[in-house]
Amino acid sequence: ALGAAAEVLAAHVRDVQDFPKPGVVFKDITPLLSTPAAFGVVIGALADLARDLSVTTIAGIEARGFLLAAPVADRIGAGLVPVRKAGKLPGATRRETYDLEYGTATLEIHQDAVAAGERVLLVDDVLATGGTAAAAHNLLRGCGADVVGLAVLMELSFLAGRDRTGALPVTSIMTL
Ligand code: AMP
Repeated sequence: ALGAAAEVLAAHVRDVQDFPKPGVVFKDITPLLSTPAAFGVVIGALADLARDLSVTTIAGIEARGFLLAAPVADRIGAGLVPVRKAGKLPGATRRETYDLEYGTATLEIHQDAVAAGERVLLVDDVLATGGTAAAAHNLLRGCGADVVGLAVLMELSFLAGRDRTGALPVTSIMTL
């Protein structure tokens, strides 16, 4: 099913050159989101993976990860946890700051976002350098969650994101 999803995905992602800055090729998933049949195939593939891993909670990374995590959680009857950028969550949070090419970024989750022992699948659209995924992984582990994997639509393998995500198993529908 991952193979079929890869074909559908490839046909519904748009490359935008030099966004958000020169030299970056942005993988735009808005064509996927606006095409119901294609979106359904991709969400179905992620849901199959989550079911195979006996996941109880889907954690989506702001912002595009939310668009994927929510329908997957609903399909498999799992909880949904938003991993947010700093300053957005109203309750007491746990935070993790990580390095970007220029400067730093901070992610947060609610301290009570997941109960100890929950089996969590992290979901995002793109794995690039892996800094975002590694920070999200640390946050969830800090709550005592059992993070069983990271699922992304696309992995930019030339950025070696897996080197930063350590022992976390990564599944990508498409590797570029
Ligand atoms: P990184 O922390 O470098 O792995 O970056 C991952 C985050 O940045 C993800 O949340 C992606 O949504 C976003 N991102 C990084 N590179 C791209 C890209 N080329 N196209 C679209 N999104 C990207």
